[in-house]
Amino acid sequence: MERLQKVIAHSGVTSRRKAEKLIEEGKVTVNGKVVTELGTKVSSNDKVEVEGVPLVKEEPIYFMLYKPRGVISSVNDDKGRKVVTDFFPEIEERIFPIGRLDYDTSGILLLTNDGDFANLLMHPKHQIDKEYIVKTKGIPSKEAVASMKKGLKVDGDFLRAVRVKTLSVDRKKGTAIIQVILHEGKNRQVRRMFEALDVKVDKLKRERYGNLTLHGMNAGDFRELTPHEVKQLR
Ligand code: URA
Repeated sequence: MERLQKVIAHSGVTSRRKAEKLIEEGKVTVNGKVVTELGTKVSSNDKVEVEGVPLVKEEPIYFMLYKPRGVISSVNDDKGRKVVTDFFPEIEERIFPIGRLDYDTSGILLLTNDGDFANLLMHPKHQIDKEYIVKTKGIPSKEAVASMKKGLKVDGDFLRAVRVKTLSVDRKKGTAIIQVILHEGKNRQVRRMFEALDVKVDKLKRERYGNLTLHGMNAGDFRELTPHEVKQLR
């Protein structure tokens, strides 16, 4: 017997947290009856449906996508804009993105149908390097760079980078390329940190996620992760 939200997450419909929300909203039935109790246990003989669709146990699958700018990190968009799963037309598993990159941010985005894996990677305790390359309009001062490492209080959140390094500066154009490594992944964290320091972000790209890099990939490309890469991320 397993908890209903875990069974839903394992089937690849969504993450465990979202499964809990679906249960509470009365969108899940077990053997035809709506169940809203989060602790409910079910066995493999029970027929579980989410929004009227029966669960099918899928093999877990893991991808990295080189997300281009101008794409939503979601499985659908009510305004009909391009979403990250549009890059996987041949994939039958119900994959979803692990966390998100902003519409205008490019770079590595992981997708899976494994809700537990997604929750693990998104948990604040799960410390893994996420490396961003930021092109700024305006050149941040040494103090500004240092304050990102110390941490900034922004709208009640404490935002901190584990490493910030100015890679190059173009004084004529008034631009800089800055490397920022985060362990946390709070909403719009890099942009909010630069905004707080009054430095404009022109371009933002996630270059590295743990040991995964974009090496050899073009925007819009994806590839399946190897079992070894998945293990390294856990
Ligand atoms: N930080 C941001 O501000 N945006 C992203 O997309 C990722 C990290």
